[in-house]
Amino acid sequence: MRGCVIHGAGDLRVEELPVPRPGPGEALVAVDYGGVCGSDLHYWRHGGVGDFRLREPMLLGHEVVGTVVAYGSPGTPGPGIGTPVAVHPATPCGVCPECVDGRRNVCRDTRYLGSAARFPHVQGGFASRIAVPAAQLRALPSGLDPRRAALAEPLAVALHAAGRAGDLTGRHVLVTGAGP
Ligand SMILES: [Zn+2]
Ligand SMILES: [Zn+2]
Repeated sequence: MRGCVIHGAGDLRVEELPVPRPGPGEALVAVDYGGVCGSDLHYWRHGGVGDFRLREPMLLGHEVVGTVVAYGSPGTPGPGIGTPVAVHPATPCGVCPECVDGRRNVCRDTRYLGSAARFPHVQGGFASRIAVPAAQLRALPSGLDPRRAALAEPLAVALHAAGRAGDLTGRHVLVTGAGP
């Protein structure tokens, strides 16, 4: 299969890679579309994002949609084989104070697709096939164009921020970051 791998600033390669084998509790997803995030561009242009520096080759991409191909273990709960899905890019640890408090989106030890925050880096989603925890799959509503569904993650970020800001009707707002 092919994948889009960043090796350092200005060094982005489309490479032949082995198809990942999903482990227990994981799903194998055939990726159809991915949104290019500002962070992907930073890895490409600068070799890192903020404090996160590339220390090994890494598949980019965390805004991906695709189709469920297989599960790593029988009986894994998740959408059926062939279901179009969006992939939630963050896998929270489940045990830190924030996770226990129900604020999994700010988990202090999260694993994030296509991120050099930890080492080894968490490989991303710009590949023909990816193996991800089945709990990270979100079945797409029928009739939703998968190209548009690739915007689900950045849209969710914006909706969450707007929700926390309260009623914005009639307010002046700053919209920063053009997103993908
Ligand atoms: Zn993003
Ligand atoms: Zn956590």
